[in-house]
Amino acid sequence: MNDVWIADLDVFREKKDQFCSVGKDGICVVSDWDRTLTYPKKANGEETTSYLAIVHGGYLGDGYREEMARLYVKYRGAELATDMGEADKLRLMNEWWMAAFELLRDFGLTREMIQDVGARDAMVLREGVVDFFLAMNVGLVPLNIVSAGLGDVIVAFLEARSLKLDCVDVVANWLRFGEGGEVVGCNTSVIHSANKTCLIGVDKLGKRSCVLVLGDTLEDAEMVTDFDGGTVIRVGFLNADTIDKRDEFGKIYDVVIGGNGGFEYVNTLVTGWMQR
Ligand SMILES: [Mg+2]
Repeated sequence: MNDVWIADLDVFREKKDQFCSVGKDGICVVSDWDRTLTYPKKANGEETTSYLAIVHGGYLGDGYREEMARLYVKYRGAELATDMGEADKLRLMNEWWMAAFELLRDFGLTREMIQDVGARDAMVLREGVVDFFLAMNVGLVPLNIVSAGLGDVIVAFLEARSLKLDCVDVVANWLRFGEGGEVVGCNTSVIHSANKTCLIGVDKLGKRSCVLVLGDTLEDAEMVTDFDGGTVIRVGFLNADTIDKRDEFGKIYDVVIGGNGGFEYVNTLVTGWMQR
């Protein structure tokens, strides 16, 4: 059984009523990918993200692994820093992500390798995520995946499992490929951990006034900010490395799910909305 915390039951009930009253035609989903739709770790303890899937796959050798580790040591402190000016943080995170893309190019990643990463179980969807995707698709509810990860890897993973459904849109980083399928660069507008909030403007939501936001960091909760005439329900997954932030999560997320939980609670929640 999952650990589920609801900070303010009255507020949450009001929001749920709003979702129920608009029904599936008035709802959309904005979800993070890594560690939200996926578990943080595989059964063997390996961490799973769209970048680490390439590292652990061993496609690019030890040199690549070492360089990635070097970047992590160099930039991770800045990523976590809470006393750094926004401009400095944005600049450093941009540097980190650009350096990581350059490594993919320099160490020779190809489109074929990405297809292989997608086909393998380098990432593991949380229990119930497949049912969640299918329910959204049946209800024609837009499911926007917003990630600072590699869109190419996420899409390859979804396609290999027949989950790149019509309702699914991926907003993430995209690699550029040469004629031989080799990585030659990345798209210019990089999405990193410090700029992924507010990528989804109200215009992207169409006429859908009720937004379900799913995430696993405090920043994810801000992927969609509250807006006039709209209702946002935020569900946050508390992972092992954020377990001490439960109170902070409770302030920003309506529902917090811990205990390495799956999507059972989310699926129960949406079932009521889908019938209208
Ligand atoms: Mg995440």
